Amino acid sequence: MDDKQVMPETAAAQALGWIDGATQAIAPPIPMSSTFLRDAGNAPGRSYARDQNPAYEQLEALLCVLEKGREAAVFASGMAAATAAFMALKPGNHVIAPKVMYWALRNWLATTATLWGLQVEFVDISSVDEIKRALRPGKTRLIWVETPANPLWTISDIAAIAEIAHAGGAMTAVDSTVATPVLTRPLALGADLVMHSATKYLNGHSDLVAGALVAKEDSDYWQRVKAVRANVGGILGSFEAWLMLRGMRTLFLRVQAACRSAEVLAQFLSEHALVDAVLYPGLPTFPGHAVAANQMQGGFGGMLSIRVKGGERAAIATAARVNVWKRATSLGGVESLIEHRASVEGPESVAPLDLLRLSVGIENVDDLIDDLDEALIAARNA
Ligand SMILES: *Cc1c(COP(=O)(O)O)cnc(C)c1O
Repeated sequence: MDDKQVMPETAAAQALGWIDGATQAIAPPIPMSSTFLRDAGNAPGRSYARDQNPAYEQLEALLCVLEKGREAAVFASGMAAATAAFMALKPGNHVIAPKVMYWALRNWLATTATLWGLQVEFVDISSVDEIKRALRPGKTRLIWVETPANPLWTISDIAAIAEIAHAGGAMTAVDSTVATPVLTRPLALGADLVMHSATKYLNGHSDLVAGALVAKEDSDYWQRVKAVRANVGGILGSFEAWLMLRGMRTLFLRVQAACRSAEVLAQFLSEHALVDAVLYPGLPTFPGHAVAANQMQGGFGGMLSIRVKGGERAAIATAARVNVWKRATSLGGVESLIEHRASVEGPESVAPLDLLRLSVGIENVDDLIDDLDEALIAARNA
């Protein structure tokens, strides 16, 4: 099959249609070998599975097709992927990162990355003016974007940021975990690098931790990223790579179902007497809605947050009373999750105390609505 000639849904469903040459298997075998027989003439070939695991080939090829990238690399986690993108920079490089972003990565940037000599500046990445003010031509190497961004679902304009970055000699990297390649193609909008926590939508079944980077071009920088993976060793196991490829076959169906239900829930909750605010890019009243409508195709994602009337106590009491929703961290799985984000992130969190983060799965939306409605009412009456 020519990868370029089918639509992305088809490429994902068939995992590019690759057939195993040895067995004609449609579901690929799982190569478990750590080492590989060398050619008698000692010609360069596959040698060792830390940097040349054949289990990655089909997966990375599919990621390239879905993200329209040239090169891809899978990692042992989203954090391993994201930190590799920063570790491939050089001491003294200036990077611009969002004030609102995935919590663990922001912590790492504020602590470890600065110890290693990166100059990290946190700005409101949804404001083009703030980025322009922060950019130091010749010194800024990377602008990190997350859109929609955890846990407020702040939207940033990837095309506008990439233009500013390129004019100033910097790269743009986008954590596209929440948008997924179903809804947004950052590389086509001008970004240089896309990152995914594959733990979330790409795998989609809450049974795997994995990450990925996709690059628009091969480059010295990309080779350093690959070297970080090989040398630091944050590599995905063969079975996990196989699971991730299997999960991606249903990516489009899962994301489309989550988007549909999230929109219905956002509508229902924005009219709910016990909810103060609904944060969802699909709502016309949401600050980033116009940019999201332009940048995201086919939906606004499966993530939303609500601010519960009655503050922290009411929010925690609501999360305590759900049954269908599962009280757990993470997102992007087939089952819906609810979380009081400020408790997880601690005192420096940007999450208001009354905020509950909702990851919408693929269940019947009426079950999700009824369960949350009952929990909100029971919490108010408690
Ligand atoms: C979960 C997540 C990460 C980190 O990925 P892990 O797979 O948990 O290491 C990074 N960014 C976003 C947006 C996430 O949701």
